[in-house]
Amino acid sequence: METKRIIFDLRTKKGLSQEELAERVFVTRQAVSRWETGETIPNTETLKLLSKELDVSINTLLGSPRRLVCECCGMTLEDSSISKEPDGFFNEDYCRWCYADGDYTLDIWKKYAEIGGREKLNEFKAQLIREINELLSMEGLPGVKELNVLPGEYVNMEYTLPSGQKVKFLDDRQTYLGSQLESELSDRCFGIAANMECIIICSYEANGEDPELIVYKNR
Ligand SMILES: [Zn+2]
Repeated sequence: METKRIIFDLRTKKGLSQEELAERVFVTRQAVSRWETGETIPNTETLKLLSKELDVSINTLLGSPRRLVCECCGMTLEDSSISKEPDGFFNEDYCRWCYADGDYTLDIWKKYAEIGGREKLNEFKAQLIREINELLSMEGLPGVKELNVLPGEYVNMEYTLPSGQKVKFLDDRQTYLGSQLESELSDRCFGIAANMECIIICSYEANGEDPELIVYKNR
């Protein structure tokens, strides 16, 4: 759909007159009229304001020329899943689960955004998979091909030391990269959780009970 039609449709759906929309985005009624006849298209600054007022991304206003993808997790973005800045503007680089309230929701994204974004994150993942597979092969376990994003609260298991003392090694509020595998040698499951600081490999019953730490390695 063309921008002129999109603006007209969204404006009328919101029940706004040309005058009212014009006021909200600081232009004249004539300017709105010219967009809707296709004589002109809004400039970049005005597109931003329209995006906020009409609650659709700039990409949608322009007729969806780009396929938007979250730079953190790689999911395809729809207007309903795009993140927003605290001031209400869309941030079309991220999904709303990876970026909220003006910041990355996951520590791991935060650090990698600082030093080079998605490409660096993929390098980090590949490196981590190599390190993990080395540890797994030493334990006689099959390797992993992919790592998923896991919230700390799900993977922060409590282990019982030989002394009877109970310990946890991870942080519930952090996010880890990890995976679960099954081995033909055992009916237990194997869990992997890693971040920039450490790699943990553990095993547990299929229902998650009786966790046992196999490897804890500082990176
Ligand atoms: Zn995302």
